[in-house]
Amino acid sequence: MKKLIVFTDLDETLLERFTYSFEKAVPALNLLKEKDIPLIICSSKTMAEIQQYCVALENHHPFVSENGGGIFIPRGYFKDIRYDSKEYDGYEVIELGTPYAELRKAVKQLRTEGFDIKGFGDMTPEELSALTGLSPDEAKLAMRRHFDEPFLYEGDIKKLVESIRAKNLNCTQGRFFHLMGGSDKGRAVDILKELYREEFGEICSIAVGDSPTDIPMLEKTDYPVLVQKDDGTYDPKVNVPGLIKAEGIGPEGWNKAIIELIQRLTS
Ligand SMILES: [Mg+2]
Repeated sequence: MKKLIVFTDLDETLLERFTYSFEKAVPALNLLKEKDIPLIICSSKTMAEIQQYCVALENHHPFVSENGGGIFIPRGYFKDIRYDSKEYDGYEVIELGTPYAELRKAVKQLRTEGFDIKGFGDMTPEELSALTGLSPDEAKLAMRRHFDEPFLYEGDIKKLVESIRAKNLNCTQGRFFHLMGGSDKGRAVDILKELYREEFGEICSIAVGDSPTDIPMLEKTDYPVLVQKDDGTYDPKVNVPGLIKAEGIGPEGWNKAIIELIQRLTS
């Protein structure tokens, strides 16, 4: 049988909006553990934030931070990592993103061009906390960024995107806009799939997301799953071949879709 692996977004996918709770997905999370199926977090969150969720979820698998900016592989998890990697804090890190200092420079430049954008790096932890519902301590973890700058902007998005592209950078949209380099979740998913394939032979992949930042990840997997947004609708911008629409908002849809798929694929 093929080795199953599951990729997941966090915000508004595995985690409920505002409460950041994964409680409603616990039955499916337990099923993955029981079946020894790796759950790979692939989020716009930072390494420091994802590490906290790895502890809460008792997850010891690799994860992807900041929209595909970095792949963090626990040291010794794979026998051989044939990609350039750096050792950092117990992980082998494959860096795909543009360094944060460069992104911050670009934010400042965009402001001088007249775009009224405000990045996480322009906010205090208290401001970010009020904006996101994170506690001030969690907001500090969200501000420890390496490869991606989330920002607020209310002007002409088309013009802004043109200016970002002219700087050889990219922009994607989840709950915030995100400024980043050439990395995306899809490239990180491809590399991890390859590493699992080398270790386990044939694999079958599932991914769960809720927003356009998840499209590159969903496109790279055999079973792409879209959960409902907070208002019970599906994001109309997410349309990839074979898309499975989970019945339920965030973690509730996650739970149902994963249980169904795992039972179908392992029976
Ligand atoms: Mg999300």
